[in-house]
Amino acid sequence: MDAPNRLQEVPDLPLEAFRLAVEQAALAISITDTEARILYANPAFERVTGYSAGEVLGHKESILSYKVTPAIVYETMWAQLLRQRTWNGLLVNRRKDGSRYLAELTITPVVNADGVTTHYLGLHRDVTDMHRLERQVQNQKALIESVVDAVEAAIVLLDEQDKVVLDNQGYKKLIGELGPEPAHPLLAALRERLGPGLGRPRDFSQIEVQIETARREPRWFSCAGAWIEEQDASADAFYEARRRRYLLLTVQDITSFKAQQEAIRLNGLRALLAEQERIQSLREALSGAVYQLQGPINRLAAAVRMLERRQERDSCRTDPLMANLEEALRSGNQALQTLQDCIPEADEGVQSVDLNELLQDLLHIATPDLLSEGIVVEWQPAPGLPAIAGRRQQLSNLFKQLLDNAVEAIHESRRPRRELKVATHAHPDRVEVIIEDSGPGIPEEWRFKVFEPFFTTKGAEDRHIGMGLTVAQEVVAGHGGLIEIDPSCGEGCRVRVQLPRG
Ligand code: FAD
Repeated sequence: MDAPNRLQEVPDLPLEAFRLAVEQAALAISITDTEARILYANPAFERVTGYSAGEVLGHKESILSYKVTPAIVYETMWAQLLRQRTWNGLLVNRRKDGSRYLAELTITPVVNADGVTTHYLGLHRDVTDMHRLERQVQNQKALIESVVDAVEAAIVLLDEQDKVVLDNQGYKKLIGELGPEPAHPLLAALRERLGPGLGRPRDFSQIEVQIETARREPRWFSCAGAWIEEQDASADAFYEARRRRYLLLTVQDITSFKAQQEAIRLNGLRALLAEQERIQSLREALSGAVYQLQGPINRLAAAVRMLERRQERDSCRTDPLMANLEEALRSGNQALQTLQDCIPEADEGVQSVDLNELLQDLLHIATPDLLSEGIVVEWQPAPGLPAIAGRRQQLSNLFKQLLDNAVEAIHESRRPRRELKVATHAHPDRVEVIIEDSGPGIPEEWRFKVFEPFFTTKGAEDRHIGMGLTVAQEVVAGHGGLIEIDPSCGEGCRVRVQLPRG
């Protein structure tokens, strides 16, 4: 349906009403001829441009041009209009007083019944303030982005569906290292620590999480999260205040710091083990001396008792030798007591001990020795192994002793197969540790003897005095457990330690 017919169909609306509507419209309206010469301008046009209608009538619309709008804009505009299409865009205009403003302009060709353009209808409004606000928002966004990018930590803003809304260069670097969307494994690890809501609505900081990587060692990150709320800007939320929630996640790579911490911890443990080893050998040496002295003193005591009985029986007078023997026995016992008092006490409280962690640390500390011996280690920790109630230092010494024995046995065997297997198992009532080596093994007849004090399979020139397994057995017994050399082990030696569950 063409325009004249449409107008005829509204007889109740006189043409005068159209004129008044245009006249009173809040939008600046101008009507030109096909040369853009102004034929009509409404009062709103006068208010926006500062020109009275009388001042612009007969002038071209270019009177409003500030002459900074690129020529291509006008060329495009006119190309559209000549094709009888509506054009709309932004032009920099000048008011009568010379001041500039940004005009949002819509020009529509007025086409008559013969399809000929007779006039142009121009509608425009001053959008300078709106443009300034938009630019301010863009500038602020660019400023925030450059500040956020300058931060070394990875920063990412996530919506409630965990979709990344904004990120920085640090986060992009993380994508290169961890693969697509590193926020997702980080969020999964954080949810494990803080629960599904990640502590919402409370912010969190310094939460350390570990992320497994396919190619490298696990990585450690320290995470901080801040909840941000904004008003929903969609049209349907205009009259109904709706809020959107975002999580601003800041992620700091602390892998090297963690590695340093771990190295310090292992060095501390290494020093502690060395100190305990020193105390242990002192204890063994003193126990050895006590053990060695005990024999002659026992014999001396027996001789004194025999002499006493003989004197009683024969009612003879006191033998002068007797006083000397008694004196020798008294000072012998005193020396024995002094030696016993010198044996350092193993003074340690019971605590919860994770044997997987303890064995892992010992294997870590033994790594240089294992590497230099070319020993292949098979470490099979039972997943979710329950902790036991035990004396941590004693247990460390026990398993270090067993591992040292295994490494030494492999070293001595000089067999091509050089394997050390360490495994843990959880049973309903106990926890089991198995240490198996590919060394020469222990003959059947020595299976129990090796736990006796001063029994050693090594030569006299060796530094061993044969107390290692004795002390190991003492520690296991002190924990209410059992230690045995597994007779079913075909080759090498398999030591089985069973400790009650805590
Ligand atoms: P001009 O010489 O006017 O034109 C630049 C380009 O447009 C040239 O390539 C030329 O070939 C082409 N052109 C010019 N006139 C015509 C025509 N009649 N037919 C075909 N091609 C043509 N401009 C503003 O700066 N501010 C305004 O607010 C504004 N309002 C307008 C409202 C209406 C209804 C119309 C029709 C035009 C309006 N114009 C406005 C455009 C204005 O007419 C000028 O084209 C523009 O200001 C550039 O002026 P100029 O003297 O620099 O270049």
